[in-house]
Amino acid sequence: MPLEVLLRAGSDVANWHGTGMGVMEMSHRGAAFGDILERTLADVREVLGVPANFDILFMQGGGLAHNAIAPMNLLGKPKAIGAPKADFVVSGSWSHKSSVEAQRYGDVHVAFNGKSTQFKTVADATDWQLRQQTDYVHLCSNETIDGVEFSTLPDLSALGIDAPLVVDCSSHIASRSIEWHKIGLAFAGAQKNLGPAGVTLAFVRQDLTDRAMAICPSAFEYKTIAANNSMFNTPPTNAIYIVGLVFEWLKSQGGLAAIEANNLVKANTLYQAIDGSSFYSNDIDVAWRSRMNVPFKLATEALNDAFLAQAKTAGLLQLKGHKSVGGMRASIYNAMPLAGVQALVAFMQQFEQQHA
Ligand SMILES: *Cc1c(COP(=O)(O)O)cnc(C)c1O
Repeated sequence: MPLEVLLRAGSDVANWHGTGMGVMEMSHRGAAFGDILERTLADVREVLGVPANFDILFMQGGGLAHNAIAPMNLLGKPKAIGAPKADFVVSGSWSHKSSVEAQRYGDVHVAFNGKSTQFKTVADATDWQLRQQTDYVHLCSNETIDGVEFSTLPDLSALGIDAPLVVDCSSHIASRSIEWHKIGLAFAGAQKNLGPAGVTLAFVRQDLTDRAMAICPSAFEYKTIAANNSMFNTPPTNAIYIVGLVFEWLKSQGGLAAIEANNLVKANTLYQAIDGSSFYSNDIDVAWRSRMNVPFKLATEALNDAFLAQAKTAGLLQLKGHKSVGGMRASIYNAMPLAGVQALVAFMQQFEQQHA
């Protein structure tokens, strides 16, 4: 979280804009929260360049709930006779999870699976085994655990597939420009780059809002949420308010282009330090390396605990890699300044000198 946002949320917590109440105490139907919601929606649309034919929805349940919400909303009117179909590009553990959950709702086909190459790379889209009859194609544009990111999205219509692309962009939303013209549905839990846990943003192209399965709960149906301006039921008001502060902060930083340029410098700084050392390594195909989540290994696994302990003493926190991958992971989200990455690099070089 940007420090400015945390301080502002703290000072507003009991008295928002002189109203004598904090956002957590407001009626979600009152004028004050109405202002917050409208301003946040307008800023999200402006900063992310969301086209007018997309609805922006504030939902709950996080990314994992969306692994069910997306198929329930898109598989109600299958193109072909028989079970509705969903094709998946599995480029890491999150897209794998999404493909498993979707099996409850339709006929799932894995069009590409990076598991055989330990999720180090992704094949060219022309080599994916996509089905003509599929009702949508899902991918995760930034694999948070594996550190694999799409630098550009596939153009399904150019591949001859007439189906919407569904993108889980939870861990790199607002870090780079978004190719909306290739997307049908995008979703992101807020807690990586947009604010606190508890609110999920869904971006739904309006022609896709009438495809829900009959079993889809009303509170998770895009059409219902859109018709009620994300207030079908009580939305996570405080989380939305903080997302609004994050978007104000993004604007103050110069918007998406400036943030993306900064993220590029941050990522290059860290990858150069890793590649320039024989002690640290990251073996993801260079073209697929994530700018947000940088996993790396030490030459000697036995030094992991010492690395983490000394890093903590140096004020460098949360560097332990996911248990499924091991090693380290630096998640250098938007709010992490370049100075933070430089401090990590300096620490890594010092640690290498001591131990290599
Ligand atoms: C963190 C994350 C999720 C999980 O979100 P929850 O809010 O914990 O359900 C889903 N997808 C990606 C890519 C993530 O990074």
